[in-house]
Amino acid sequence: MTILAKFSPLRENYERLRALGHDPFSVKFERIVSPTEGVLRGKRTILLGTNNYLGLTFDPSCIDAGVAALEGQGTGTTGSRIANGTYGGHGDLEAALADFYGRQHCMVFTTGYQANLGIISTLVGKDDFLLIDSDSHASIYDAAKMGTAPVVRFRHNDPDDLYKRLRRLGDQPGNKLVVVEGIYSMLGDTAPLKEFVQVKRETGAFLLVDEAHSMGVLGENGRGLAEQEGVEDDVDFTVGTFSKSLGAVGGFCVSDHPDFDILRVACRPYMFTASLPPSVIATTLQALKRMREEPGLRRRLTANAERLYYGLKGLGFELGPEPNPIVSVMLPNKELAIAAWNMLLEAGLYLNLALPPATPNSLALLRSSVSAAHTPAQIDTAIELFGQVGRRLGVLPTPGLVVQA
Ligand code: PMP
Repeated sequence: MTILAKFSPLRENYERLRALGHDPFSVKFERIVSPTEGVLRGKRTILLGTNNYLGLTFDPSCIDAGVAALEGQGTGTTGSRIANGTYGGHGDLEAALADFYGRQHCMVFTTGYQANLGIISTLVGKDDFLLIDSDSHASIYDAAKMGTAPVVRFRHNDPDDLYKRLRRLGDQPGNKLVVVEGIYSMLGDTAPLKEFVQVKRETGAFLLVDEAHSMGVLGENGRGLAEQEGVEDDVDFTVGTFSKSLGAVGGFCVSDHPDFDILRVACRPYMFTASLPPSVIATTLQALKRMREEPGLRRRLTANAERLYYGLKGLGFELGPEPNPIVSVMLPNKELAIAAWNMLLEAGLYLNLALPPATPNSLALLRSSVSAAHTPAQIDTAIELFGQVGRRLGVLPTPGLVVQA
């Protein structure tokens, strides 16, 4: 009976949160109508918190590819790549991703979480060092726990702090692996990648960039922050996911390291789990093709992100530092964030409630993720609803007063 007793404080917190309205952690959609609309308790609701950056989840060509694979190859692989074999599609997708990034090697994982977990925990061993940004995603923290390398945390987006910590390691033997993210998932801020690359060059460390939220979003070809910043040659390992811009599920790592493929028989989260079903591989492959062939998707995404960001800023909300597709409104406290989230949901707008300890600096956030598939009218409706809720809760300045941007 006592085995879950340790979660009593969590249960109490969760119950308190649920007593205030909808349960933010188990929102149930009766139906998803399109990349930007769902039905929730009978009401059409705008989806503004789904990471569906390019809106490809309903793309007819992706659906056709998935259906053909489902009919031709069945529902699942029923096993892992090493024990039960690789399907043609796995190899095709790995080749397509390697080609997209201009790299020699690619490994596909069953989720992005497992890609980080596997790659990071396996690259560095007990005689090496792992250096991670303090705002890292849970998958990076969990990789640090799973692996055997000593872990050094540096201040978020602070290359000087990283440099100091690397210097402190001095001449200790062992490889140093630095892990940063392209766009951080809570505030939508980007890493100062050029400066991190400088540190990497000066110290001889290896660099891994998780482009989960920046693939398909940043860079002329959508390869992410490293492409945008012109530092791709200095990135040793790029990790990404299929669950955001590519509208599916899965993850990958690409690299030019000549021995990269040895990871296929050393990396446990790759080896000991079932591989992705053919239908998911097929939709992902097609989504990658669509993403490459249609830069207009990214342009629409950027325009929508800026429309929401500057619209909310104009109302007087405090936001993350950059107009990326993750637009987070910072509210003064948890109670206001919960109230605002419930009111927005009631009004037909779904986004993410992000609370401490999942947020940096204990912030209470309403986190939106914009899609290329949103219409300008949907973005304007969202801004209007935010404005109404902000005024009702007293978070926004009183109408009539001049708002300082
Ligand atoms: N890295 C980052 C930065 C993420 O935000 C996420 C998911 N939100 C992941 C990795 C894991 O990706 P997946 O959902 O494909 O497991």
